[in-house]
This record gives sequence, structure tokens and C-alpha cells, in this order.
Amino acid sequence: MLVRGGTVRALAKSSRRAKLAGASRRPAASDNTNSSRISVPMGILETRKDQIFPTLTAHQVDSARRFASGPEQRFAPGEAVFSIGAVGTPSWLVIEGEIELTRRRGLSGETSVTSYGVGQFSGEVNALAGRPSISAGRAGSDGCIAIPFDAPHLRALMIGTADLGEIVMRALILRRVELIEDAEAGTILVGAPSNPKVVRLQVFLTRAGYPNLVLDATTDAEGKALIERLGISAAELPLIVCPDGTFLRDPTELELATCLGITPSIKDGARFDVAIVGAGPAGLAAAVYAASEGLSVVVFDGRNTGGQAGASSRIENYLGFPTGISGRALVGRAFNQAIKFGAEIAVPMHVDRLDCSGKELTLEIAGGTRVISKAIVIASGASYRRPCPSSEHSAQLAA
Ligand SMILES: Cc1cc2nc3c(=O)[nH]c(=O)nc-3n(C[C@H](O)[C@H](O)[C@H](O)COP(=O)(O)OP(=O)(O)OC[C@H]3O[C@@H](n4cnc5c(N)ncnc54)[C@H](O)[C@@H]3O)c2cc1C
Repeated sequence: MLVRGGTVRALAKSSRRAKLAGASRRPAASDNTNSSRISVPMGILETRKDQIFPTLTAHQVDSARRFASGPEQRFAPGEAVFSIGAVGTPSWLVIEGEIELTRRRGLSGETSVTSYGVGQFSGEVNALAGRPSISAGRAGSDGCIAIPFDAPHLRALMIGTADLGEIVMRALILRRVELIEDAEAGTILVGAPSNPKVVRLQVFLTRAGYPNLVLDATTDAEGKALIERLGISAAELPLIVCPDGTFLRDPTELELATCLGITPSIKDGARFDVAIVGAGPAGLAAAVYAASEGLSVVVFDGRNTGGQAGASSRIENYLGFPTGISGRALVGRAFNQAIKFGAEIAVPMHVDRLDCSGKELTLEIAGGTRVISKAIVIASGASYRRPCPSSEHSAQLAA
């Protein structure tokens, strides 16, 4: 049984395994030839393919070159350009030949996704923050020549070229959305779907915007076989298979987030201009404004990005969204905007203590790491107390 996003999916594996660049085997959105008129929502790849894989014009390629992080590089036919799990993988703009993109496919290896041709670029939102790549790229059969853009240079391109930046940013975001739709490319959780540990880790990944898939350890043949092969006991479940192939047995959220590169490594004594406690709407807004002014920013949240707003199915009163927006969509946008300006988002990292006694402001993070910052923003939200009427009030209420 495949469980994705908390619901059991009966989607045929063959449709999810269709090669993205080729024809999809998903039925059309409204197939009137089908007498029962079953409506299957079209995937983002069908509806927005041109925006997911845009081709830059020669003029746009010239504009982009000014922001490159290094000289163009030639890759031999079949040579690895980037691999799954590699940290700091640049986004590559192809100027000759092709890069073939592959992804992990569940537990059964890698699969071809698409080819980036001349004027197309690799990467998704992880490239903005230098986080580990979820896909791999290889030079095509004639090799390729490509220009690298590491995270700081990619962010500079976004900010420095309005029209080009919009095309690239939209593509990176939509590629992540498509990755989330294609859950098999992400983290695989093997365990009982109703197990609280599985649910907790899946909610964490989903709220962090990471593709994930649960394989039922008792009914899914691939999941069962893996557990038997590795000799995993029931107490060690859930078993987590990260996109780079790393196995984790019954991990905490922090261990999982560290393995996936969601949690940045913050050195003891690290210095920032602005440190923010809380990654709800208030904390993320502060991060966007501070980072867009060129300040170095770190945001800590003990749980995940989004705060309370991340749990809201629809927010109708947020300025600028007259038709309403779901909490997750709002938080996703805010997160992408913050990393576009270079803010570091550190989750799950609880702040234990604020020390204002010395000349410098210091935050102490769970585990003992200290962070020094010129300014600290506390955006830790509200906690609600239950009304506890005094005996006098209780008597009045009872009268
Ligand atoms: C289901 C639901 C629906 C809602 N719908 C609406 C709506 O339609 N319209 C509306 O206006 N409002 C709505 N709200 C309220 C809205 O979500 C909150 O007002 C808003 O999220 C507050 O934002 P915030 O950033 O101040 O705090 P929060 O969203 O509470 O975020 C605070 C963050 O700080 C973190 N944190 C706290 N202490 C620490 C620490 N020591 N170290 C690290 N991290 C810490 C928490 O984990 C949390 O993520 C809704 C709330 C919920 C729960």
C-alpha cells in the first residue's frame, strides 16, 4: 500500500513512473469518453511544463552569465554533473549538449526524469540554500558545456535580474511542487502508516515541504523485503531511506532533518546581524525584511516552519490574498522568499535561553550551541492559558 500525504493513494505506479519529458499515462482531466466520468486531477507537469522547464533565450543566457559563480565547464558523455545528496550543488545552465536528470524511484533504484537542453538550467529550491540535491544529473550522449551558479550567485541572479529572476524562481518552486507530487523521489518511511512515530515524521517532512512516501511495512512487498534484508526489528521501525540512500532507524525529527540537510550546521559562537526565534508568519516576515536589506539572518524554530499558520486550511484575512490562501501555501511562499534573500532557516532547533547580561546578545540553542547576534527578534507566538476562574467568580457564574 502506498500512503502519501496522509491518504492512501490508489494511483497506478505506472503513471507515477512515467518519464516526465515524455507522454504521461495519466488520464486527461476531463475524459468524456469514459462513461463513468471519473475525474483525475492533472499533475503539475501536465499543466505547467513550460514554466517548470523554461528555455532561456540567447539574450537571457547572456544576462545570466554575468552572475555565474565560475567559468563554463565541459563534461564528457555520461559524466556525473551532480549527484543525489551532494551538498552545495550549483544550478547548471546548459549552453551546449544536454544534462540528463535522474531521481531515486522508491526503493528500486533511479529513473530518468528529463533532459535539460541548451538554455535550460538544473536545480530546485534546495539550490537556493545549497542544501543537498534530491536529483542527479549526467552529461548526455554528446557531453555538455554548462555554466555553474552556486547558491549565493543564484540568489544574486534572482535579485539582480527582475524578469529572468522571476522565470528561474518560479521554475525552482514548481519543480519542488512537482517533486512533492512525485513522492517516490523523496524520503521513504517504512512502517505502519498509523504508527504515531510514522505520522510525526511524515507531518514534519510535509510541513517542511519535502517529498515523502510511506510504505506499509506489513503489506508493501518492497518495504517488507527491505526490512527482512536489513534485519530490522519492530522496535527499530520506522525505517527511513533518505534520497541519497542513507538508512535511519527510528530517528528523531532532528536526526532526520540533519540527514536531509534541512537543519543547517550552526557552529558554536556563530555571529549574525539578526537572529530570530520562531519561524511562524511573524518570524519569516522579519527574516525576509532583514535579509532583503543585506543583513545576515538566522531563524530558529523548535518545531518546523509555519507556526500556527501552517496548520490553517484557509486564511481569508491575510493582506494581498483576496481569494484566501492555505496556511501551507503561505508558509511555503514565505520560506522561499526568505531563503531567496539568504536567510538561514534552522529547524527543528529550540532556543533554550536568551542572555542579555554581557555586551553581546546570545541565544543558547538546545544542545548547548551559542549564537551571537547584534539584534534578536522574539517571534515565538502566543501560548494560550485556559480560563481558571477564582472561587468568587465560579460562585457568581453558578448563581
Ligand atoms: C488552525 C488555525 C487557523 C488559523 N486561521 C487564521 C486565520 O484565518 N486568520 C488569522 O488571522 N489567523 C489565523 N490563525 C492564527 C494565526 O495562525 C496566528 O495568529 C499566527 O500564526 C501567529 O504568528 P506568529 O509568527 O506570531 O506565531 P506562531 O505562528 O505561533 O509561530 C511561533 C513559532 O515559534 C516557535 N517557537 C516558540 N518558542 C520557541 C523557542 N523557544 N525556540 C524555537 N522556536 C520557538 C514555535 O514552534 C512556532 O513555530 C489560525 C491559527 C490556527 C491554529
